[in-house]
Amino acid sequence: MADARRSDTSTPTDQLPDEIYIAFVDGLLSDVVPVVLFSAIAVTFGEIAGAIAARQPILFYAAASQLLIAALRLYFVGRHARCVPSATVEIARKQERIFSFGALLSLLGLSLWTLLAFSVTDNSFAQFIGVSMTITYAFSLMSRSYAIFRGVNMQLVVAFVPLSVAMVVAGGWYPVGIVVGIVPLVLYMKGSSQRLRANFNEVIAAQQRAATLAARLDTALNNMSHGLCMLDGSGRLILMNDQALRIFGVGPDVALVGAHVNSILRGLVHGNIIAPSQHALLAHALLDGDAGADVMVPFETRDGRAFEVTIHRMKDEGSVVVIQDVTERRNAQLEINRMARFDAVTDLPNRRSFEDELARALRPNRDLVSGMTVMFLDLDDFKQVNDSLGHRTGDKLLTEIARRLRAIMGPRDLVARWGGDEFVILHHNGEGRPVTPAIARRIIEEVSRPVVIDGSEVVVGASIGSATAPDDGVTPDALLSNADIALYAAKADGRRGWRAFEKAMDTKIQVRRLIELELRAAVANDAIDVHFQPIVDVKTRRIVAFEALARWRHPVRGPVSPAEFIPIVEEIGLMEELGAGVLRRACAACASWPDDITVSVNLSPSQFRNGNIEKAIAEALQSADLAPKRLDIEITESTLLDNRRDVRGTLDALRSRGLRVSLDDFGTGYSSLSYLLSFPLDRIKIDRSFTIGLGIQERASILVESVAAMSRKLGMTVLIEGVETERQMRIIETLGTIAEVQGFLFSPPVPQSAVPVLLGRGSGKKAAA
Ligand code: C2E
Ligand code: CA
Ligand code: CA
Repeated sequence: MADARRSDTSTPTDQLPDEIYIAFVDGLLSDVVPVVLFSAIAVTFGEIAGAIAARQPILFYAAASQLLIAALRLYFVGRHARCVPSATVEIARKQERIFSFGALLSLLGLSLWTLLAFSVTDNSFAQFIGVSMTITYAFSLMSRSYAIFRGVNMQLVVAFVPLSVAMVVAGGWYPVGIVVGIVPLVLYMKGSSQRLRANFNEVIAAQQRAATLAARLDTALNNMSHGLCMLDGSGRLILMNDQALRIFGVGPDVALVGAHVNSILRGLVHGNIIAPSQHALLAHALLDGDAGADVMVPFETRDGRAFEVTIHRMKDEGSVVVIQDVTERRNAQLEINRMARFDAVTDLPNRRSFEDELARALRPNRDLVSGMTVMFLDLDDFKQVNDSLGHRTGDKLLTEIARRLRAIMGPRDLVARWGGDEFVILHHNGEGRPVTPAIARRIIEEVSRPVVIDGSEVVVGASIGSATAPDDGVTPDALLSNADIALYAAKADGRRGWRAFEKAMDTKIQVRRLIELELRAAVANDAIDVHFQPIVDVKTRRIVAFEALARWRHPVRGPVSPAEFIPIVEEIGLMEELGAGVLRRACAACASWPDDITVSVNLSPSQFRNGNIEKAIAEALQSADLAPKRLDIEITESTLLDNRRDVRGTLDALRSRGLRVSLDDFGTGYSSLSYLLSFPLDRIKIDRSFTIGLGIQERASILVESVAAMSRKLGMTVLIEGVETERQMRIIETLGTIAEVQGFLFSPPVPQSAVPVLLGRGSGKKAAA
């Protein structure tokens, strides 16, 4: 691994890396002018002195050549100086060759002068000065250019070959001794210059490696995603990467390296980057931690970024600090926490956070307990909005209601979505109950104001039940359940009302709850019976049809009237299910009767709301294999007035399939006659209350008479309900406008098993009557 890393930077012994070689040559040549000048002058003077001492003019002329060579060298050096640094290795190599060549030339001049001195004179001063200058010059050259191997060899040749020849020329044993003495000197020189060069190369290579390593480390540090700092043993910053600078919002021009960590942290507090509390936390972790173990300190900057600082303290050597940006992770966590506590549709706190908050508010040591009210709010008619206008509209409605509730409530109050169309409010009313009624009224008023959604107006109401601490309970469970009971009572009173919890409510509500539970089970188990009451033709007194009437046989309470349980079934939203069951049984029963007998089934307004009624009817007919013309549906005024659904369209569709439609309980509602009669109807069933007045109250007789006459004119059959006496029957017969009758005079509703008996008698009239 280490080898692989070094392979591209290690220097072959004979060759320096290009950039270092260039720097070396450029360096060698740039400050060479005084040296060249000084050595040329010194050598020239020495040679002239030798020439004068030997009285040899030839030595004098030869000395002049040194000046010529120096001039030439200075010319080239000057030329080189103009293009430093050298652009390429080739240029540097050429410059180096010119320079070495110049140096060699002057060395050669000097050694040749010495050889000449030995040849032309015996003057020992001239000879001595020649030899000593040659050796000195060779040494000085080598010491300057030890990086150039071949140069050194040539210098040795150039300096010592003429010198040796000069010794030989001198003759005798004495010069031979000098030559013998020079050989080790030359070898030593060569060896030492090689060693110097090798050392030099090694140092250069090591420096190069260190520089590469430092550059790589720098790149790595500044490109890592974490911030990194190093502190020395005394807590001073010795290293910090760019990322750390960015994290602390410090510009690269601010010199932090060398500063003590305490003063850096103080600077960050002054710069409003971290809070003073974070300062203490970080300083403690950085300076007082245990050696060896890693410490993780979370901290936040003032602009809301979150970081984790991991500090690794080394024994006596300071510490390494890694700073990781965890803002995104923190934000994601916050969002998850938020989602767990807030409702996504309304952005209100959800049930869980309400319960937590209520528990907190009710903690025994809180003196706030008195004057704290929990209000349950249930939207009236929300289900219809959702069913008929869609969930998107439902969501928008909830959002708007949430906004209104928040606007009404004070800053200390808590509004939450309990679920579905239920909201819950924790209201701090300070001094007891008096404020609650006013607030409840305001809430009901505000919620009942129309909401415009996508251009159309939607109206819902609200019912509220409240329970106040400590009278109605001091635990979250007690308050919530009592507020719920009060809500229940408010809804039972009729819509858009508010009720505060009262102790008496509790038992009433328990009973009602029980009934609800039992009813749910009864509907689910198809345990609601259907009884049949005959409808009799006035003229023939023969049974022409049966009305199907639901019956609940309660295990303890006995038979429960549909007048009592149908509204509860409606309220708990099971009417569709129950209605479909009655339809199915009625059709199945009718299919077993003679072909000319039909069946009437009562339908509630709620059965029309979801648009499933046509399908339910079709399925009932199909499974019983009953002709549609044998089924008569009974609807009431409230179904016709329910303008949320296209009731008229549904009725038209049913009639076009051959079914008949009757208007039940005629005369009990408030709508205008003309309005009712504008609907597509086949039969009118005049309510029992008018039958009672027949023959007793003139008004009743007149009304029945005129309505019957008018309905007949419009092509509708008229039936009168609740005929109990022969007297009533005779009056009806005299009127002549009423086609059908129904009542105890003929038969009460009977179980399906008793129907054949009634039919077998031929006349519907009760024998015992
Ligand atoms: P309704 O449709 O007006 O049914 C006639 C009611 O009058 C029946 O009461 C019947 O037993 C009663 N009745 C019939 N003849 C006489 C009589 O001569 N004298 C007196 N005093 N009463 C008579 P019931 O069965 O208690 O049903 C009450 C109401 O419950 C029905 O009034 C109807 O509105 C509703 N209901 C019954 N079954 C169903 C059902 O399956 N679906 C729906 N939606 N409503 C139903
Ligand atoms: Ca009826
Ligand atoms: Ca009726």
